[in-house]
Amino acid sequence: MHYRMNIGFDLDNVFISTPPFIPKEIIDKLYKKKDNGVLLYRIPSLPEQLFRRSTHMNLLRPAIKENLEFLKTITKKDNKLYLISSRFKFLEKRTRKIIKKYSLDKIFNEMYFNFGNTQPHIFKNEIIKKLDLDLYIDDDLSLIKHVAKDNTKTRFFWLNNNNQKQALSNNIFAIPSLSEIFEQTGIRNKESGIMEQ
Ligand SMILES: [Mg+2]
Repeated sequence: MHYRMNIGFDLDNVFISTPPFIPKEIIDKLYKKKDNGVLLYRIPSLPEQLFRRSTHMNLLRPAIKENLEFLKTITKKDNKLYLISSRFKFLEKRTRKIIKKYSLDKIFNEMYFNFGNTQPHIFKNEIIKKLDLDLYIDDDLSLIKHVAKDNTKTRFFWLNNNNQKQALSNNIFAIPSLSEIFEQTGIRNKESGIMEQ
């Protein structure tokens, strides 16, 4: 049996890390107006854009190498890989640079960016639907909760740093590392060559 999957990945905190000296609470505050079930992300003011752009210098945003390596173990013959980032327009140049630096355009079949400045959860919801994704991986749990309601056939993976590994709902799973996806799905693993499920 040939089981092909459409798999979507977020960019920040999945393949590119945030500056190590800025606590997550502050990053959340910068990005979200509130996080109480009703999602609303802020589009930053111009001075803040300048500041945030400066934190996007490559030095401060190292690649998460183990996750990039993981991508190479998914056979592209059997699966389609998509990058879906809700980065706003003001980060377009920096984003294109980092994509080039890590050759992400060669890894993913297609890449989608939110350079139209839509609300991130609305943007991602549209793309996930359009691509009819089987799996989607993101580090933003409130965003996942929002889109999971609307895409009940998609399996969502919340990549977390708290070592959480459990089902959070019918279609949301907490995973501490990308390799956990092998255990939970039928992705073909290049090394083993096996298909689970
Ligand atoms: Mg992210």
